Amino acid sequence: METEAETAATQSPVVDPQRECPHCHANLAYEVDGQTYSRLIGVEYPYGHKDRYDGVSEWRCPDCGTRTGRWSGRVLADGETEPRWGGRQ
Ligand SMILES: [Zn+2]
Repeated sequence: METEAETAATQSPVVDPQRECPHCHANLAYEVDGQTYSRLIGVEYPYGHKDRYDGVSEWRCPDCGTRTGRWSGRVLADGETEPRWGGRQ
């Protein structure tokens, strides 16, 4: 049986790492019952992708589409992807 915490984490991650988009400065945080959640969209790379990771690799701003690496925290350029663990092995 899934615990309540696991369910919440899968559905809507707690804000990490950003509360504000580095590009459009949109507010990405919102609160429900005292818990902070993020509007960021988690992006997983498909099987066969060179940077495939079994989970979120990058965050996408729902307003402007700016992509940020999950581990590096860097804004990713067009065509650039986030290596697993931000390139650290
Ligand atoms: Zn944005």
